[in-house]
Amino acid sequence: MKSTTLLTLAGLWLAPLAALHAADTPPPAAKPNILFIVADDMGYADCGVHGCRDIPTPHLDALAGGGIRFTDGYVTGAVCSPSRAALMTGRHQLRDGVPDWIPPGKPGMNPGVPTLADYLKKAGYRTAMVGKWHLGEQDQCHPLSRGFDEFFGFLGGGRNYFPDPPKAAGAKVNHYTQMVRDREPVVETEYTTHAFGREGANFVRRQQGQAQPFFLYLAFNAVHTPMQAPDDYLQRFTAIEDQKRRTYAGMLAAMDDAIGRVLKAVRDSGVEEKTLICFISDNGGPITRNAPNSSRNTPLRGGKGETWEGGIRVPFFVKWTGHLPAGTTFTQPVIQMDLMATALALVGQKVDPQWPIDGVNLMPFLTGGQQNPHETLYWEYGPQWAIRQGSWKLTFAWPSKEAKTPILGLYDLTQDIGESRDLASAQPERVKQLEAAWASWRKRVGGGPPAPQVKRKNVAKAP
Ligand code: CA
Repeated sequence: MKSTTLLTLAGLWLAPLAALHAADTPPPAAKPNILFIVADDMGYADCGVHGCRDIPTPHLDALAGGGIRFTDGYVTGAVCSPSRAALMTGRHQLRDGVPDWIPPGKPGMNPGVPTLADYLKKAGYRTAMVGKWHLGEQDQCHPLSRGFDEFFGFLGGGRNYFPDPPKAAGAKVNHYTQMVRDREPVVETEYTTHAFGREGANFVRRQQGQAQPFFLYLAFNAVHTPMQAPDDYLQRFTAIEDQKRRTYAGMLAAMDDAIGRVLKAVRDSGVEEKTLICFISDNGGPITRNAPNSSRNTPLRGGKGETWEGGIRVPFFVKWTGHLPAGTTFTQPVIQMDLMATALALVGQKVDPQWPIDGVNLMPFLTGGQQNPHETLYWEYGPQWAIRQGSWKLTFAWPSKEAKTPILGLYDLTQDIGESRDLASAQPERVKQLEAAWASWRKRVGGGPPAPQVKRKNVAKAP
């Protein structure tokens, strides 16, 4: 009896897979809900499926276990705004004026470039953003101006996790940190990570029974500094002696629970098979530079703010019950821009030719057996840069916490994931070829459509 039930279930699961292969563009009824979940500054090693032993992450592990875990999942940005910009546009952030994180009051991402929310709204989706935006505080950059029907969260790059003290009457609003619902300031009484879980889950529940598919962009500021965890979460980790790591553990566990709450809402609404769920950290764990939080990127070298693997290779999972294989790993390199390309392809939405995207639709690679979504991947952050081609990576990155000048090195990632054995002097021809490929790419992304309202200049440094 049991085996019959299992066989029946297997049959049901295979049916949508076959349907997906049969048609390039799905009929409108098949448009899946799309849920993007983003962690902030979470280390590559800080989840159970990547070997973390001191901080349980059951919900993230279940997400990875129910779908595909990318061992070589990358982000284009080594810090917050650039990575989130490219996630939202499917384009490298240098094209749209986001070479670095956006400080308070500074211009945001080019307001002309279409976002995934713009496209999905056009395709008939209900769109919501919950959490940290960090793509500009100005009205033209606000999520509600960028394709989202609903917004709950804050516009800047970071804020306290605990409720703000009451404001004096007439006090000026800090648009970088103020919690808002749509465009109105709100007084939030919960720890922000709990609040984002609550709002994300509420949004999903509100969509139950609606004909319209939904897009939810759930972007945490956890586990970015300031290091603040609720007492009951700290109590779970008394075995961790290092106080900072202990607080990090509490913050990470709170985020894992918030994610669990949203995933439960998806399950309870009966839309698991209709919902593509994607998870990334926006950049690697900050180990030495850029607000270190006691995260770990083992066995990768470096961290946030660097073009070593530790800054740009992140926890990266996708799950779509019945449509993507469960409990598998995918070892070819992918990058966060691919998620937008994948979503648009699933929805059958064409890319505006004025704003070409850099991501690749992953579906033929994940379900159709096509190989190698990217021949080459490229990075730049300040004076640092990197290129990966197959297993080879040429990196121009700071060698230490104190270093002011980057060093150039060639690494074979399949043999040396920790980028410790520089093969540049042994393979000068390969170095030359990769250097030229990077320079040519840099020229290409520097020549995108004009961004008249963005005054920031791209940082173009010759190698
Ligand atoms: Ca970040």
